[in-house]
Amino acid sequence: MTPLVHLHGVSKVYAGGVTALSDVDLTIDAGELIGVVGPSGSGKSTLLHLLGTLDLPTSGIVRINGHDVAELSDRALSALRATTIGFVFQQFHLAPGVSVLDNVADGLLYAGQPRRRRRQHAEAALHRVGLAHRLDHLPHELSGGERQRVAIARAVVGQPSLLLADEPTGNLDTASGTAVLNLIKELTGAGTTVVVITHDLQISAQLPRRIEIRDGKLIADAKGQPHA
Ligand code: ADP
Repeated sequence: MTPLVHLHGVSKVYAGGVTALSDVDLTIDAGELIGVVGPSGSGKSTLLHLLGTLDLPTSGIVRINGHDVAELSDRALSALRATTIGFVFQQFHLAPGVSVLDNVADGLLYAGQPRRRRRQHAEAALHRVGLAHRLDHLPHELSGGERQRVAIARAVVGQPSLLLADEPTGNLDTASGTAVLNLIKELTGAGTTVVVITHDLQISAQLPRRIEIRDGKLIADAKGQPHA
């Protein structure tokens, strides 16, 4: 079976000469839940951007669902992102002054569905993240943990195969962070593949596969229960 993600000899050198990733090989199968750890500046976000097709490698091959992303047109890349990949960021990125329901429904803007249908899907996604009772609230009326759940609902509303999360619990207290992690785990149970960047070793220790990056190199890739 074609792996969901396949990186072969991937390097990323930014303008200015910073080598952010160096010769990374990585295969991710459908349904995996993976934590990415490493010190600040080690290349974690760069890796997530490449997995999310937001950026292209300087050398090497990135395949998502079997597609070599360097060979896709901008239009095909946008379509791949819209249908296959969801993003969650530390800073939530919700539109202020827009209801919870419409924040999530807007996650389907590129899917070409009418507004009524987008809102129906959004309501179902908010139900899944336990926020069915907050549809008409505005983002500033929610706690940090609730805002991150809205952001997760928006990321999953298009039923992506791959959910990429960059420090999703970084702005949350421990209890809210654990709730968000549990939600992410539930999603993987539903067949979604999830890659989570985290500084929090307690969080990464709970994940079935852990990848460690240092100075742009993948230095460890561990599966199974960690000895935390
Ligand atoms: P992490 O997510 O682990 O903190 P990053 O992937 O953000 O690491 O960054 C890896 C390295 O690449 C760092 O040295 C950073 O300064 C550099 N870097 C990141 N983004 C850019 C960019 N757009 N232009 C130039 N250098 C960058």
